[in-house]
Amino acid sequence: MGKFVLVKCNCGYEQPLFKFIASEVKCGSCGAVLAEPTGGLAKITGKVEKELD
Ligand SMILES: [Zn+2]
Repeated sequence: MGKFVLVKCNCGYEQPLFKFIASEVKCGSCGAVLAEPTGGLAKITGKVEKELD
């Protein structure tokens, strides 16, 4: 199972995201929050396009 997912923001920007994060991940284009840390698997608030290896 991959540790990265490709997440698409509402603005259309896509970026790979590590599933285990320690701080919020924001969209590289508009700054919207795409994922929040939970202590384990990230809570992804963007749209998951696909799993990456
Ligand atoms: Zn965005």
